[in-house]
Amino acid sequence: MSSSTKYIFVTGGVTSSLGKGIISASLAKLLQGRGYSVTIQKLDPYINIDPGTLNPYEHGECFVTNDGAETDLDLGHYERFLNVSTSQANNVTTGKIYQSVIEKERRGEFLGKTVQVIPHITDEIKERIQILGNSGEYDFVITEIGGTVGDIESLPYVEAVRQMLWEFKRRTLVIHLTLIPYLKAAGELKTKPTQHSVKALLELGVQPDILVCRSEYHVDRAMRKKIALFCNVEPNAVIESLDASSIYEVPLLMQQEELDKVVLEKLNLPHEGEANLVEWLHFLDRLKNPKSKVTIGLIGKYIELKDSYKSIIEGFHHAGAANECSVNIEWIHSEKLTDDNVAYRLKDLDGILVAPGFGSRGIEGKILAIQYARENDIPFFGICLGMQCAVIEFARNVLGLRDAHTTEIDAATQNPVIAIMENQKDLTQKGGTMRLGAYACDLTKDSRSAEAYGSQKITERHRHRYEFNNDYLEAIEAKGMIAVGKNPDTGLVEVVEIPDHIWFVGTQFHPEYKSTVERPHPLFISFVKAAIRKKKSTLV
Ligand code: GLN
Repeated sequence: MSSSTKYIFVTGGVTSSLGKGIISASLAKLLQGRGYSVTIQKLDPYINIDPGTLNPYEHGECFVTNDGAETDLDLGHYERFLNVSTSQANNVTTGKIYQSVIEKERRGEFLGKTVQVIPHITDEIKERIQILGNSGEYDFVITEIGGTVGDIESLPYVEAVRQMLWEFKRRTLVIHLTLIPYLKAAGELKTKPTQHSVKALLELGVQPDILVCRSEYHVDRAMRKKIALFCNVEPNAVIESLDASSIYEVPLLMQQEELDKVVLEKLNLPHEGEANLVEWLHFLDRLKNPKSKVTIGLIGKYIELKDSYKSIIEGFHHAGAANECSVNIEWIHSEKLTDDNVAYRLKDLDGILVAPGFGSRGIEGKILAIQYARENDIPFFGICLGMQCAVIEFARNVLGLRDAHTTEIDAATQNPVIAIMENQKDLTQKGGTMRLGAYACDLTKDSRSAEAYGSQKITERHRHRYEFNNDYLEAIEAKGMIAVGKNPDTGLVEVVEIPDHIWFVGTQFHPEYKSTVERPHPLFISFVKAAIRKKKSTLV
Protein backbone atom coordinates (compact mmCIF):
# COMPACT_ATOMS: atom_id res chain seq x y z
CA MET A 1 0.00 0.00 0.00
CA SER A 2 2.97 2.28 -0.41
CA SER A 3 0.95 4.69 -2.52
CA SER A 4 -1.28 5.37 0.47
CA THR A 5 1.26 5.35 3.29
CA LYS A 6 1.05 8.60 5.22
CA TYR A 7 4.17 10.37 6.42
CA ILE A 8 4.09 12.27 9.69
CA PHE A 9 7.14 14.34 10.57
CA VAL A 10 7.88 15.35 14.13
CA THR A 11 10.24 18.28 14.64
CA GLY A 12 11.31 19.97 17.83
CA GLY A 13 11.85 23.60 18.74
CA VAL A 14 13.01 25.87 21.59
CA THR A 15 15.06 23.24 23.43
CA SER A 16 16.13 19.63 23.16
CA SER A 17 14.85 16.94 25.54
CA LEU A 18 11.18 17.86 25.08
CA GLY A 19 10.28 14.22 24.56
CA LYS A 20 9.75 13.97 20.80
CA GLY A 21 10.32 10.23 21.07
CA ILE A 22 7.54 9.77 23.62
CA ILE A 23 5.12 12.02 21.72
CA SER A 24 5.87 10.13 18.50
CA ALA A 25 5.42 6.78 20.26
CA SER A 26 2.19 7.98 21.93
CA LEU A 27 0.67 9.15 18.64
CA ALA A 28 1.73 5.85 17.06
CA LYS A 29 0.03 3.97 19.91
CA LEU A 30 -3.21 5.91 19.39
CA LEU A 31 -3.18 5.21 15.65
CA GLN A 32 -2.37 1.57 16.31
CA GLY A 33 -5.30 1.48 18.75
CA ARG A 34 -7.51 2.51 15.83
CA GLY A 35 -6.36 -0.48 13.80
CA TYR A 36 -3.63 1.14 11.71
CA SER A 37 -0.16 -0.31 11.25
CA VAL A 38 2.44 2.23 12.24
CA THR A 39 6.21 2.45 12.46
CA ILE A 40 8.44 5.19 13.81
CA GLN A 41 11.79 6.28 12.49
CA LYS A 42 14.44 8.49 14.04
CA LEU A 43 16.73 10.71 11.99
CA ASP A 44 19.76 11.75 14.03
CA PRO A 45 21.76 14.74 12.76
CA TYR A 46 25.12 13.71 14.26
CA ILE A 47 27.99 12.45 12.14
CA ASN A 48 28.64 9.15 13.88
CA ILE A 49 27.49 6.29 11.64
CA ASP A 50 25.53 4.90 14.59
CA PRO A 51 25.60 5.27 18.38
CA GLY A 52 27.48 1.97 18.74
CA THR A 53 30.81 3.67 19.32
CA LEU A 54 29.38 6.41 21.56
CA ASN A 55 30.06 6.50 25.26
CA PRO A 56 26.70 6.05 27.10
CA TYR A 57 27.34 9.38 28.84
CA GLU A 58 26.76 11.07 25.45
CA HIS A 59 23.26 9.89 24.52
CA GLY A 60 22.42 7.14 27.00
CA GLU A 61 21.88 3.53 26.10
CA CYS A 62 22.59 2.09 22.68
CA PHE A 63 19.48 0.13 21.69
CA VAL A 64 19.92 -2.98 19.52
CA THR A 65 17.35 -4.24 17.00
CA ASN A 66 16.71 -7.83 15.91
CA ASP A 67 18.64 -7.27 12.70
CA GLY A 68 21.65 -6.00 14.63
CA ALA A 69 21.40 -2.22 14.23
CA GLU A 70 22.97 -0.23 17.07
CA THR A 71 20.51 2.61 17.47
CA ASP A 72 19.27 5.58 19.45
CA LEU A 73 17.43 4.77 22.67
CA ASP A 74 14.21 6.28 21.29
CA LEU A 75 13.82 3.11 19.21
CA GLY A 76 13.44 1.31 22.51
CA HIS A 77 10.46 3.52 23.34
CA TYR A 78 8.95 2.84 19.93
CA GLU A 79 9.18 -0.92 20.47
CA ARG A 80 7.98 -0.79 24.07
CA PHE A 81 4.92 1.28 23.14
CA LEU A 82 3.99 -0.46 19.90
CA ASN A 83 5.15 -4.02 20.57
CA VAL A 84 6.46 -4.05 17.00
CA SER A 85 10.13 -4.63 16.15
CA THR A 86 12.21 -1.92 14.52
CA SER A 87 15.12 -2.50 12.15
CA GLN A 88 18.16 -0.96 10.46
CA ALA A 89 15.81 1.28 8.48
CA ASN A 90 14.36 2.89 11.60
CA ASN A 91 17.45 4.87 12.60
CA VAL A 92 19.38 7.05 10.17
CA THR A 93 22.27 9.36 11.02
CA THR A 94 24.04 12.05 9.05
CA GLY A 95 27.07 9.75 9.10
CA LYS A 96 25.08 7.00 7.34
CA ILE A 97 23.66 9.43 4.79
CA TYR A 98 27.07 10.85 3.86
CA GLN A 99 28.73 7.44 3.87
CA SER A 100 26.19 6.16 1.38
CA VAL A 101 26.37 9.24 -0.87
CA ILE A 102 30.19 9.19 -0.86
CA GLU A 103 30.22 5.46 -1.71
CA LYS A 104 27.88 6.16 -4.64
CA GLU A 105 30.17 8.97 -5.79
CA ARG A 106 33.17 6.62 -5.69
CA ARG A 107 31.24 4.08 -7.77
CA GLY A 108 30.61 6.79 -10.33
CA GLU A 109 26.85 6.68 -9.87
CA PHE A 110 26.44 10.44 -10.18
CA LEU A 111 27.80 10.41 -13.75
CA GLY A 112 30.22 13.26 -13.37
CA LYS A 113 27.83 15.65 -11.65
CA THR A 114 28.90 17.85 -8.75
CA VAL A 115 27.67 16.12 -5.60
CA GLN A 116 25.85 18.58 -3.32
CA VAL A 117 23.76 18.80 -0.16
CA ILE A 118 20.78 19.59 -2.36
CA PRO A 119 19.81 17.40 -4.16
CA HIS A 120 22.14 14.50 -3.33
CA ILE A 121 22.09 14.50 0.48
CA THR A 122 18.42 15.44 0.61
CA ASP A 123 17.58 12.73 -1.97
CA GLU A 124 19.36 10.17 0.18
CA ILE A 125 17.41 11.35 3.26
CA LYS A 126 14.11 11.14 1.36
CA GLU A 127 14.99 7.67 0.13
CA ARG A 128 15.70 6.53 3.71
CA ILE A 129 12.37 7.93 4.87
CA GLN A 130 10.54 6.09 2.10
CA ILE A 131 12.20 2.69 2.62
CA LEU A 132 9.69 2.02 5.40
CA GLY A 133 6.75 3.47 3.46
CA ASN A 134 7.61 1.50 0.34
CA SER A 135 7.77 -1.77 2.28
CA GLY A 136 3.97 -1.82 2.01
CA GLU A 137 3.72 -2.83 5.67
CA TYR A 138 2.65 0.47 7.15
CA ASP A 139 -0.30 2.84 6.97
CA PHE A 140 1.76 5.47 8.78
CA VAL A 141 5.46 6.21 8.98
CA ILE A 142 6.21 8.67 11.77
CA THR A 143 9.62 10.26 11.26
CA GLU A 144 11.17 12.01 14.23
CA ILE A 145 13.83 14.55 13.32
CA GLY A 146 16.45 14.64 16.08
CA GLY A 147 17.86 17.93 17.34
CA THR A 148 16.20 21.32 17.42
CA VAL A 149 14.96 23.41 14.50
CA GLY A 150 17.54 26.10 13.80
CA ASP A 151 20.54 23.82 14.39
CA ILE A 152 22.96 23.91 11.48
CA GLU A 153 23.23 20.12 11.43
CA SER A 154 19.49 19.49 11.07
CA LEU A 155 19.05 21.82 8.07
CA PRO A 156 19.26 19.10 5.37
CA TYR A 157 16.62 17.06 7.20
CA VAL A 158 14.17 19.96 7.40
CA GLU A 159 14.85 20.64 3.72
CA ALA A 160 14.11 16.98 2.89
CA VAL A 161 10.85 17.32 4.83
CA ARG A 162 10.00 20.48 2.87
CA GLN A 163 10.53 18.63 -0.41
CA MET A 164 8.46 15.66 0.72
CA LEU A 165 5.58 17.94 1.78
CA TRP A 166 5.59 19.29 -1.74
CA GLU A 167 5.91 15.92 -3.48
CA PHE A 168 3.45 13.97 -1.32
CA LYS A 169 1.02 16.79 -0.53
CA ARG A 170 -1.99 15.28 1.24
CA ARG A 171 -0.10 12.25 2.49
CA THR A 172 2.13 14.28 4.79
CA LEU A 173 1.81 16.19 8.02
CA VAL A 174 4.18 18.09 10.31
CA ILE A 175 3.93 18.13 14.07
CA HIS A 176 6.17 20.62 15.82
CA LEU A 177 6.93 20.06 19.48
CA THR A 178 7.73 23.19 21.44
CA LEU A 179 8.03 24.51 24.96
CA ILE A 180 5.77 27.03 26.68
CA PRO A 181 7.94 28.11 29.60
CA TYR A 182 6.53 29.46 32.84
CA LEU A 183 8.21 32.61 34.08
CA LYS A 184 8.02 32.56 37.84
CA ALA A 185 8.75 36.26 38.27
CA ALA A 186 5.97 37.19 35.83
CA GLY A 187 3.69 34.38 37.02
CA GLU A 188 2.90 33.62 33.38
CA LEU A 189 3.29 31.08 30.62
CA LYS A 190 5.14 32.56 27.66
CA THR A 191 4.41 31.84 24.01
CA LYS A 192 7.16 33.86 22.37
CA PRO A 193 9.76 31.06 22.12
CA THR A 194 7.12 28.97 20.31
CA GLN A 195 6.36 31.80 17.90
CA HIS A 196 10.06 32.18 17.18
CA SER A 197 10.64 28.51 16.66
CA VAL A 198 7.71 28.26 14.24
CA LYS A 199 9.16 31.26 12.43
CA ALA A 200 12.47 29.41 12.15
CA LEU A 201 10.62 26.49 10.55
CA LEU A 202 8.75 28.85 8.20
CA GLU A 203 12.03 30.38 7.09
CA LEU A 204 12.98 26.89 5.94
CA GLY A 205 9.71 26.58 4.04
CA VAL A 206 7.91 24.29 6.45
CA GLN A 207 4.53 25.21 7.93
CA PRO A 208 3.67 22.93 10.86
CA ASP A 209 0.12 21.55 10.90
CA ILE A 210 0.01 20.76 14.59
CA LEU A 211 1.84 22.22 17.58
CA VAL A 212 2.37 20.07 20.63
CA CYS A 213 3.26 22.40 23.49
CA ARG A 214 5.18 21.03 26.44
CA SER A 215 4.24 22.96 29.54
CA GLU A 216 4.33 22.67 33.29
CA TYR A 217 0.94 24.40 33.54
CA HIS A 218 -2.39 24.23 31.72
CA VAL A 219 -2.40 26.09 28.40
CA ASP A 220 -5.87 27.63 28.34
CA ARG A 221 -8.18 28.36 25.39
CA ALA A 222 -7.14 31.98 25.10
CA MET A 223 -3.49 31.14 24.96
CA ARG A 224 -4.10 28.41 22.38
CA LYS A 225 -5.96 30.91 20.23
CA LYS A 226 -3.07 33.31 20.49
CA ILE A 227 -0.53 30.65 19.52
CA ALA A 228 -2.79 29.56 16.64
CA LEU A 229 -3.05 33.12 15.37
CA PHE A 230 0.69 33.75 15.41
CA CYS A 231 1.68 30.36 14.01
CA ASN A 232 -0.93 29.80 11.23
CA VAL A 233 -2.46 26.71 12.80
CA GLU A 234 -6.01 26.03 13.90
CA PRO A 235 -6.76 26.43 17.62
CA ASN A 236 -7.70 22.74 17.93
CA ALA A 237 -4.28 21.89 16.47
CA VAL A 238 -2.55 23.50 19.45
CA ILE A 239 -2.13 20.55 21.76
CA GLU A 240 -1.03 20.81 25.35
CA SER A 241 1.46 18.28 26.70
CA LEU A 242 1.73 18.53 30.46
CA ASP A 243 4.45 16.78 32.44
CA ALA A 244 3.25 13.26 33.24
CA SER A 245 4.07 11.09 36.24
CA SER A 246 5.03 8.25 33.88
CA ILE A 247 5.84 8.13 30.18
CA TYR A 248 3.11 5.50 29.88
CA GLU A 249 0.49 8.16 30.76
CA VAL A 250 1.35 10.21 27.69
CA PRO A 251 -0.79 8.27 25.17
CA LEU A 252 -3.80 8.93 27.43
CA LEU A 253 -2.97 12.62 27.75
CA MET A 254 -2.64 12.84 23.95
CA GLN A 255 -5.95 11.02 23.57
CA GLN A 256 -7.63 13.54 25.88
CA GLU A 257 -6.13 16.31 23.79
CA GLU A 258 -7.43 14.53 20.65
CA LEU A 259 -4.05 14.52 18.94
CA ASP A 260 -4.96 11.40 16.96
CA LYS A 261 -8.29 12.90 15.86
CA VAL A 262 -6.67 16.09 14.63
CA VAL A 263 -4.02 14.08 12.76
CA LEU A 264 -6.64 11.89 11.06
CA GLU A 265 -8.87 14.84 10.24
CA LYS A 266 -5.98 16.69 8.61
CA LEU A 267 -5.11 13.62 6.56
CA ASN A 268 -8.75 13.25 5.48
CA LEU A 269 -9.20 9.94 7.26
CA PRO A 270 -12.17 8.87 9.38
CA HIS A 271 -11.69 10.20 12.88
CA GLU A 272 -14.81 9.18 14.75
CA GLY A 273 -14.65 7.03 17.88
CA GLU A 274 -11.67 6.41 20.10
CA ALA A 275 -8.51 4.34 19.94
CA ASN A 276 -8.80 1.04 21.78
CA LEU A 277 -6.38 1.21 24.70
CA VAL A 278 -7.90 -1.50 26.89
CA GLU A 279 -4.65 -3.46 27.34
CA TRP A 280 -2.71 -0.27 27.92
CA LEU A 281 -5.15 0.84 30.62
CA HIS A 282 -4.83 -2.55 32.32
CA PHE A 283 -1.09 -2.15 32.37
CA LEU A 284 -1.33 1.38 33.77
CA ASP A 285 -3.74 0.25 36.40
CA ARG A 286 -1.35 -2.46 37.59
CA LEU A 287 1.59 -0.07 37.38
CA LYS A 288 -0.13 2.53 39.52
CA ASN A 289 -1.71 0.21 42.10
CA PRO A 290 1.02 -2.18 43.23
CA LYS A 291 0.25 -4.63 46.01
CA SER A 292 3.85 -5.06 47.08
CA LYS A 293 7.22 -3.40 46.75
CA VAL A 294 10.76 -4.67 46.26
CA THR A 295 14.11 -2.95 46.06
CA ILE A 296 16.53 -4.07 43.40
CA GLY A 297 20.13 -2.88 43.41
CA LEU A 298 21.31 -1.93 39.94
CA ILE A 299 25.09 -2.15 39.89
CA GLY A 300 26.72 -0.25 37.05
CA LYS A 301 29.34 2.32 36.25
CA TYR A 302 27.27 4.78 34.22
CA ILE A 303 24.68 5.44 36.90
CA GLU A 304 25.19 9.21 36.85
CA LEU A 305 23.19 9.10 33.61
CA LYS A 306 20.22 6.82 34.19
CA ASP A 307 19.41 6.82 30.46
CA SER A 308 22.41 4.52 30.08
CA TYR A 309 20.17 1.77 31.48
CA LYS A 310 16.87 2.85 29.91
CA SER A 311 15.68 -0.54 28.68
CA ILE A 312 16.54 -2.22 31.99
CA ILE A 313 14.57 0.41 33.93
CA GLU A 314 11.58 -0.02 31.62
CA GLY A 315 11.94 -3.81 31.81
CA PHE A 316 11.42 -3.46 35.58
CA HIS A 317 8.35 -1.24 35.07
CA HIS A 318 6.80 -3.86 32.80
CA ALA A 319 7.72 -6.81 35.01
CA GLY A 320 6.71 -4.91 38.16
CA ALA A 321 3.25 -4.25 36.70
CA ALA A 322 2.96 -7.91 35.67
CA ASN A 323 3.62 -8.87 39.31
CA GLU A 324 1.52 -5.99 40.69
CA CYS A 325 4.67 -4.95 42.47
CA SER A 326 6.46 -1.63 42.61
CA VAL A 327 10.13 -2.08 41.77
CA ASN A 328 12.30 0.48 43.44
CA ILE A 329 15.73 0.67 41.84
CA GLU A 330 18.61 1.47 44.11
CA TRP A 331 21.48 2.82 42.05
CA ILE A 332 24.84 1.51 43.15
CA HIS A 333 28.06 2.66 41.59
CA SER A 334 30.26 -0.35 40.91
CA GLU A 335 33.41 1.74 41.37
CA LYS A 336 32.38 2.57 44.93
CA LEU A 337 31.88 -1.00 46.14
CA THR A 338 34.72 -2.37 48.26
CA ASP A 339 35.35 -5.40 50.46
CA ASP A 340 34.59 -3.22 53.46
CA ASN A 341 31.29 -1.71 52.37
CA VAL A 342 29.73 -4.36 50.14
CA ALA A 343 27.72 -6.08 52.87
CA TYR A 344 26.50 -2.79 54.27
CA ARG A 345 25.48 -1.48 50.81
CA LEU A 346 23.72 -4.65 49.63
CA LYS A 347 22.24 -6.23 52.74
CA ASP A 348 18.76 -4.73 52.43
CA LEU A 349 18.25 -5.47 48.76
CA ASP A 350 15.65 -7.96 47.55
CA GLY A 351 17.53 -8.54 44.30
CA ILE A 352 20.75 -7.53 42.59
CA LEU A 353 21.22 -6.81 38.90
CA VAL A 354 24.70 -6.37 37.47
CA ALA A 355 24.52 -4.34 34.32
CA PRO A 356 26.15 -4.64 30.90
CA GLY A 357 29.28 -2.64 30.18
CA PHE A 358 32.68 -2.39 28.62
CA GLY A 359 36.20 -2.03 30.00
CA SER A 360 37.78 -2.35 33.41
CA ARG A 361 36.33 0.58 35.36
CA GLY A 362 34.20 -0.73 38.22
CA ILE A 363 34.66 -4.40 37.35
CA GLU A 364 35.92 -5.52 40.77
CA GLY A 365 32.90 -3.88 42.43
CA LYS A 366 30.62 -5.87 40.16
CA ILE A 367 32.42 -9.08 41.06
CA LEU A 368 32.15 -8.29 44.79
CA ALA A 369 28.41 -7.65 44.44
CA ILE A 370 27.93 -10.98 42.70
CA GLN A 371 29.87 -12.83 45.40
CA TYR A 372 27.64 -11.21 48.00
CA ALA A 373 24.47 -12.17 46.10
CA ARG A 374 25.67 -15.74 45.58
CA GLU A 375 26.81 -16.32 49.16
CA ASN A 376 23.77 -14.67 50.74
CA ASP A 377 21.13 -16.23 48.49
CA ILE A 378 19.92 -12.90 47.11
CA PRO A 379 18.22 -13.12 43.69
CA PHE A 380 20.83 -12.22 41.08
CA PHE A 381 20.46 -11.22 37.44
CA GLY A 382 23.58 -10.63 35.35
CA ILE A 383 23.27 -9.17 31.88
CA CYS A 384 26.08 -9.47 29.32
CA LEU A 385 29.13 -8.13 31.22
CA GLY A 386 27.09 -8.93 34.36
CA MET A 387 26.92 -12.58 33.30
CA GLN A 388 30.62 -12.59 32.40
CA CYS A 389 31.44 -11.20 35.86
CA ALA A 390 29.33 -13.95 37.44
CA VAL A 391 31.46 -16.57 35.67
CA ILE A 392 34.67 -14.82 36.74
CA GLU A 393 33.47 -14.60 40.35
CA PHE A 394 32.52 -18.28 40.38
CA ALA A 395 35.86 -19.34 38.87
CA ARG A 396 37.80 -17.25 41.38
CA ASN A 397 35.89 -17.99 44.55
CA VAL A 398 34.41 -21.44 44.01
CA LEU A 399 36.97 -23.09 41.69
CA GLY A 400 39.84 -21.30 43.40
CA LEU A 401 41.27 -19.86 40.16
CA ARG A 402 42.37 -16.63 41.79
CA ASP A 403 43.46 -14.88 38.61
CA ALA A 404 40.41 -15.89 36.52
CA HIS A 405 39.39 -13.00 34.30
CA THR A 406 38.08 -11.87 30.95
CA THR A 407 40.72 -11.20 28.32
CA GLU A 408 38.93 -7.90 27.66
CA ILE A 409 40.53 -6.65 30.88
CA ASP A 410 43.48 -8.95 31.55
CA ALA A 411 44.85 -10.31 28.29
CA ALA A 412 47.62 -12.20 30.10
CA THR A 413 45.49 -14.09 32.66
CA GLN A 414 46.33 -17.78 33.08
CA ASN A 415 42.61 -18.47 33.43
CA PRO A 416 40.68 -16.71 30.67
CA VAL A 417 37.22 -17.94 31.65
CA ILE A 418 35.78 -15.24 29.36
CA ALA A 419 37.67 -14.82 26.09
CA ILE A 420 37.39 -13.01 22.81
CA MET A 421 35.31 -14.81 20.19
CA GLU A 422 37.32 -16.48 17.44
CA ASN A 423 35.77 -14.35 14.67
CA GLN A 424 36.49 -11.14 16.62
CA LYS A 425 40.23 -11.72 16.95
CA ASP A 426 41.39 -10.09 13.73
CA LEU A 427 38.92 -7.21 13.60
CA THR A 428 40.42 -3.74 13.68
CA GLN A 429 37.29 -1.65 13.02
CA LYS A 430 35.32 -0.88 16.17
CA GLY A 431 31.98 0.28 14.73
CA GLY A 432 29.28 -2.30 14.00
CA THR A 433 31.60 -5.29 14.40
CA MET A 434 30.39 -6.86 17.63
CA ARG A 435 28.15 -9.93 17.73
CA LEU A 436 24.96 -7.97 17.20
CA GLY A 437 21.26 -8.67 16.98
CA ALA A 438 19.09 -11.73 17.42
CA TYR A 439 20.51 -15.23 17.77
CA ALA A 440 18.79 -18.46 18.72
CA CYS A 441 19.31 -20.10 22.08
CA ASP A 442 18.28 -23.57 23.28
CA LEU A 443 17.42 -23.84 26.96
CA THR A 444 17.80 -26.94 29.11
CA LYS A 445 14.53 -28.49 30.19
CA ASP A 446 13.71 -27.76 33.83
CA SER A 447 16.06 -24.78 33.99
CA ARG A 448 14.75 -21.69 35.70
CA SER A 449 14.99 -19.82 32.39
CA ALA A 450 13.05 -22.44 30.40
CA GLU A 451 10.39 -22.36 33.09
CA ALA A 452 10.20 -18.56 32.92
CA TYR A 453 9.95 -18.49 29.11
CA GLY A 454 7.59 -21.47 29.01
CA SER A 455 9.73 -22.66 26.10
CA GLN A 456 13.12 -24.20 25.38
CA LYS A 457 13.62 -22.35 22.12
CA ILE A 458 14.18 -18.62 22.32
CA THR A 459 15.90 -15.84 20.37
CA GLU A 460 17.45 -12.85 22.06
CA ARG A 461 19.53 -9.85 21.05
CA HIS A 462 23.27 -9.56 21.55
CA ARG A 463 25.96 -6.92 21.71
CA HIS A 464 29.35 -8.26 22.75
CA ARG A 465 32.78 -9.47 21.63
CA TYR A 466 33.71 -11.80 24.48
CA GLU A 467 32.18 -15.12 25.46
CA PHE A 468 32.17 -17.91 28.01
CA ASN A 469 35.30 -20.01 27.39
CA ASN A 470 34.05 -23.58 26.92
CA ASP A 471 37.44 -25.00 28.06
CA TYR A 472 36.20 -24.25 31.60
CA LEU A 473 32.66 -25.54 31.15
CA GLU A 474 33.14 -28.95 32.74
CA ALA A 475 34.96 -27.63 35.81
CA ILE A 476 32.43 -24.85 36.34
CA GLU A 477 29.42 -27.14 35.93
CA ALA A 478 30.96 -29.72 38.30
CA LYS A 479 30.85 -27.07 41.04
CA GLY A 480 27.24 -26.06 40.45
CA MET A 481 27.06 -23.26 37.89
CA ILE A 482 25.28 -24.70 34.85
CA ALA A 483 25.23 -23.49 31.25
CA VAL A 484 21.50 -23.91 30.66
CA GLY A 485 21.33 -21.91 27.42
CA LYS A 486 23.46 -22.44 24.32
CA ASN A 487 23.46 -21.27 20.75
CA PRO A 488 22.35 -24.32 18.73
CA ASP A 489 24.78 -23.63 15.86
CA THR A 490 27.96 -22.58 17.63
CA GLY A 491 27.65 -23.99 21.14
CA LEU A 492 28.32 -20.51 22.59
CA VAL A 493 27.06 -20.31 26.17
CA GLU A 494 24.14 -17.90 26.38
CA VAL A 495 22.73 -18.49 29.89
CA VAL A 496 24.26 -19.66 33.16
CA GLU A 497 22.33 -20.55 36.31
CA ILE A 498 23.09 -21.79 39.80
CA PRO A 499 20.18 -24.15 40.47
CA ASP A 500 21.09 -24.38 44.13
CA HIS A 501 20.30 -20.69 44.76
CA ILE A 502 17.05 -18.76 45.18
CA TRP A 503 17.45 -17.21 41.65
CA PHE A 504 20.79 -16.81 39.95
CA VAL A 505 20.68 -16.21 36.21
CA GLY A 506 23.28 -14.67 33.92
CA THR A 507 22.57 -14.03 30.24
CA GLN A 508 25.12 -13.26 27.55
CA PHE A 509 22.26 -11.64 25.61
CA HIS A 510 20.28 -8.52 26.50
CA PRO A 511 16.73 -9.51 27.47
CA GLU A 512 15.88 -5.89 28.30
CA TYR A 513 15.70 -4.95 24.61
CA LYS A 514 12.68 -7.18 24.10
CA SER A 515 10.53 -6.16 27.06
CA THR A 516 7.39 -4.27 26.01
CA VAL A 517 4.26 -3.06 27.76
CA GLU A 518 2.25 -5.81 26.11
CA ARG A 519 4.92 -8.47 26.51
CA PRO A 520 6.94 -7.91 29.68
CA HIS A 521 10.10 -10.00 29.54
CA PRO A 522 9.79 -13.47 31.14
CA LEU A 523 13.19 -13.28 32.86
CA PHE A 524 12.42 -9.87 34.34
CA ILE A 525 9.03 -11.18 35.54
CA SER A 526 10.66 -14.24 37.08
CA PHE A 527 13.43 -12.16 38.70
CA VAL A 528 10.93 -9.75 40.29
CA LYS A 529 8.91 -12.76 41.53
CA ALA A 530 12.06 -14.13 43.14
CA ALA A 531 12.72 -10.74 44.78
CA ILE A 532 9.16 -10.77 46.19
CA ARG A 533 9.78 -14.30 47.52
CA LYS A 534 13.06 -13.22 49.04
CA LYS A 535 11.49 -10.24 50.76
CA LYS A 536 8.70 -12.38 52.20
CA SER A 537 11.19 -14.94 53.49
CA THR A 538 13.23 -12.29 55.28
CA LEU A 539 10.11 -10.77 56.88
CA VAL A 540 9.08 -13.99 58.66
N1 GLN B 1 32.31 -5.95 27.17
C1 GLN B 1 31.69 -7.24 27.07
C2 GLN B 1 31.87 -7.84 25.69
O1 GLN B 1 32.12 -7.14 24.74
C3 GLN B 1 30.22 -7.18 27.46
C4 GLN B 1 29.41 -6.29 26.56
C5 GLN B 1 28.07 -5.90 27.14
O2 GLN B 1 27.87 -5.94 28.35
N2 GLN B 1 27.16 -5.47 26.29
O3 GLN B 1 31.75 -9.04 25.53
